[in-house]
Amino acid sequence: MDTSMKLQPELCGSLIVSCQALETSAFRDSACMAKFARAAVDGGAAGVRVNGPDDVKAVRRAVGVPIIGIWKALQDDGKILITPSFEAAQQLVEAGADMIALDCTCRGQRFGALERLRRIKEELRVPVLADIATADEAIQAAEAGADAVLSTLRGYTAETSQVQAFEPSFIAQLVHAVRVPVIAEGRIQDPRQVHAALDAGAFAIIVGTAITRPELITRRFVSALQTWQRRHDSQRIFIGIDLGGTNTKFGLVSNRGELLFHSATPTPWREGRDVLLRHLKQTVSTCLEEARRQDLRLEAIGLATAGWVNPETGQVVYATENLPGWSGANPACYLREEFGLPVAAENDANALAVAEKRFGAAKTTSDFVCITLGTGVGGGCYIGGRLSHGNHYFANALGHIPIEPGGLPCTCGLSGCLEPYTNASALLRYAGPGSFTSADQVIAAANAGDLVAQGSIHTLAKYLAVGCASLVMLLDPEMLILAGGLVQNNPLLVSALTEELAKRVTVWPQRQLRVEASALGYSAGVLGAAAVASAAVVEGCSAYGAPSESFEQPVLD
Ligand SMILES: [Zn+2]
Repeated sequence: MDTSMKLQPELCGSLIVSCQALETSAFRDSACMAKFARAAVDGGAAGVRVNGPDDVKAVRRAVGVPIIGIWKALQDDGKILITPSFEAAQQLVEAGADMIALDCTCRGQRFGALERLRRIKEELRVPVLADIATADEAIQAAEAGADAVLSTLRGYTAETSQVQAFEPSFIAQLVHAVRVPVIAEGRIQDPRQVHAALDAGAFAIIVGTAITRPELITRRFVSALQTWQRRHDSQRIFIGIDLGGTNTKFGLVSNRGELLFHSATPTPWREGRDVLLRHLKQTVSTCLEEARRQDLRLEAIGLATAGWVNPETGQVVYATENLPGWSGANPACYLREEFGLPVAAENDANALAVAEKRFGAAKTTSDFVCITLGTGVGGGCYIGGRLSHGNHYFANALGHIPIEPGGLPCTCGLSGCLEPYTNASALLRYAGPGSFTSADQVIAAANAGDLVAQGSIHTLAKYLAVGCASLVMLLDPEMLILAGGLVQNNPLLVSALTEELAKRVTVWPQRQLRVEASALGYSAGVLGAAAVASAAVVEGCSAYGAPSESFEQPVLD
């Protein structure tokens, strides 16, 4: 005999709202639950999930949509069980529930769930829904005759306690495992997760806490405020180290971007990994001494380094010959072990972009590119408010965008990259042999009216525009922020780049692209390194955009 009962067809592809309140909640009475149900239906919910016969009765009077009835009751083992007896189910149906859900997890089964499931179907003639936490439990419940399985208890049983978030992959697993409809429930907090659940094959979606717990909704906002305050707490001090191909800049930085101490030392860039690590250790020691002198308590160390970095592990995934031997090093791990402080590491150009987002011109901008021009050339892109890392942390390799087929050799091993046309040695080259000994001299001469120096800056700007035009066409950013040694006191570079870009980018006027020199100055990289440490340690995020949100969901619906 086929004992399956069809779920109401209007529930297919629909939202079901779980209308419950804890005993301690201001909303804990049946009249409030009826109002929650009304509001849910007004908002487009096609069904509701309701706890206990009193609430079911009140909700039944208020709305006409299908009601999933449950009854949470404390058991001898000190824990709640969902619909623990046939009599409970009977009272729910008499109160107006159209369907019954019950706990069919391993624990539920120890309390006789599967026998109860069969009896409810047989005697009460209503569809029975199985709240489960694993695929095995779903299979057992479906074999016992459950008309649907619900992922409700995933993460709430001893066997699944490691699960902390909604898992679309678990829904897909259930859809594969059972032939009855799978309803996604539990820890769905965001409308975007609805798409993921439906993509995974969910028949319908049940949301509770994120809709019907005003105190938790309030807490999400309060927690965002607290994160912002922690982020701006000037008592939180970080070491920022900017390991460049020529110099290492370092300092102590507050969460507000105040530079409390800064200094610089030459980078022993030729000497290989071990010397570089010891160099960093010495640098941190200097900062620690200064922190002791100023009586500052340090939170963490931030390192911005040339090369591509995996910010999750702190490893330098790859570095060019600007720092020979640096590929594969893990300075974050090394410094953590040496000093016992949290350490965050990031590519130097990315760190600069983080500094601009935190402390600089891009605070309110979500799409911008920060370009660094010095010994090397790098970039950091924010797209949609998040720093872009790419699939292997190789994104933003701006210096190695090809601009000249068969052109100048580059430190990366290829030729014709943007970097050898727009770095400090390129500027010296354009200024002609013998006239200047450093890029700074060329810039100073240009500012003093030297036509040759000005011409060389213009040449560099022309090449830079070729590389930047690709970026602008691809990303349509709001701003290009120029930083690094070649940009300090070099207004001509900014204006020449703007002029050259206008010639190479379509719909230029409509883009209203702002090209600016970083206002963070000489220590921008130090600020960036500290900002990376702050984001990683204070907020626990490595996207460096909006604060990461933790949404407490202690009680199941
Ligand atoms: Zn290259």
